[in-house]
Amino acid sequence: MERTMYFLDQKDMPTRWYNIQADLPEPLPPVLHPGTGKPVGPADLAPLFPMELIKQEVSQERWIEIPEEVQAIYRTWRPTVLHRAYRLEKALDTPAKIFYKYEGTSQAGSHKPNTAVAQCYYNKMEGVKRIATETGAGQWGSALSMAGAMFNVEIKVYMVKISFNQKPYRRILMEAWGAKCVASPSEDTEIGRRILREDPECTGSLGMAISEAVEDAASRDDTKYSLGSVLNHVLLHQTIIGEETRKQMEMADVYPDIIVGNIGGGSNFAGQFLPWVRDKISGAKPDLRIICVEPTAAPSLTKGPYAYDHGDVAGMTPLLKMYTLGHTFIPSPIHAGGLRYHGMAPIVCHLHKLGLVEARAEHQVATFEAGVQFARTEGIISAPEPCHNIKAAIDEAIRCREAGEAKTILIAHSGHGYLDLAAYDAYLSGQLVDYAYPEEEVKEALKQLPKVPSA
Ligand SMILES: *Cc1c(COP(=O)(O)O)cnc(C)c1O
Repeated sequence: MERTMYFLDQKDMPTRWYNIQADLPEPLPPVLHPGTGKPVGPADLAPLFPMELIKQEVSQERWIEIPEEVQAIYRTWRPTVLHRAYRLEKALDTPAKIFYKYEGTSQAGSHKPNTAVAQCYYNKMEGVKRIATETGAGQWGSALSMAGAMFNVEIKVYMVKISFNQKPYRRILMEAWGAKCVASPSEDTEIGRRILREDPECTGSLGMAISEAVEDAASRDDTKYSLGSVLNHVLLHQTIIGEETRKQMEMADVYPDIIVGNIGGGSNFAGQFLPWVRDKISGAKPDLRIICVEPTAAPSLTKGPYAYDHGDVAGMTPLLKMYTLGHTFIPSPIHAGGLRYHGMAPIVCHLHKLGLVEARAEHQVATFEAGVQFARTEGIISAPEPCHNIKAAIDEAIRCREAGEAKTILIAHSGHGYLDLAAYDAYLSGQLVDYAYPEEEVKEALKQLPKVPSA
């Protein structure tokens, strides 16, 4: 019998998150205050985040216990299944063994609830009644709304107006879960009203939505702010994915040679690869390859300089050391909305700088070609984001065929594409286009990098 699914029993679900900061060969560069250029402290972040998450952001403990209440919610969809892609292997006629860990079975359809649930819990424990956040196409807003429903925390989502109007389904999800979702810029904040006064037709941007959510949180005692990617504590919560996968690969009696994932802010892939990269750091598995895949339309790791930059387009957040295309750079409107980010998680960037993870960029049309091949063999309609690393996995499997090597390839599959069918429609009708690397725009944006006093 060909075994295609590896189930982890609920009683064997990992009970700790893995914190890479304990094992880094060099510590992370400090986060700097945008005004003073000095390292930020807990007091700077306290108006926006609960103290427990601020502590996790800088913790050096290797293992952090997952609170029992968070485990209980995780168990409404976890452990997720590890699949063996026999049908894809056969279609590619490759000796490679291809596995994928699928996060599309969470209620919100992606990995994002892994951190949304944890963040809601810690806010609730510290007496926070309400959380404000921003969302682009709605993946993060819907995941946080689902978590808010489970913990009875009120969620307010500022959704970029153009997506709010063009992509109603995720807004409807948020409302079904009880959240309040408004188009940004909105009349609900000072900054939103100011933008609308100047330009009533403004269709919004992620930067504006962040500004509104931050203003909302900073101006109310009962409200905090929440981010769905990039920050250390978000990556920490996602390590449940890789910790489960380690147990499941052991059940399958294999160890990966190559792990591929897509990176927007870096959280889903880091959640898979951080629990493996420690074997590379310790010297136990020096040949393990970890490949980060990004879109050619927003190639931060493959084309950006390693520099201090703001995390948001508005330039309000602390300065993070990362590979960046400049915080004012706005990527082309590719369908992989989750990958349209100018920067990258500082942890992912640090590991890339240290030579522990590789990066490559893929064009949009080729990623959908791979996604459709995956759909026609494995059956799953993937979100446009994981189509990026499915493309890279297929390329590696073809290389194995040419070299006659039976490598084990692990795909970090971040979610389903049932709310992205318009993108498939565009691909299937031949209307999908590629976007070249926007060299001139990036050059302009990089001129806006903040000046940082040399450390
Ligand atoms: C948000 C999202 C991503 C990108 O975010 P990361 O923080 O890089 O993981 C990737 N895939 C899916 C399905 C998403 O919803």
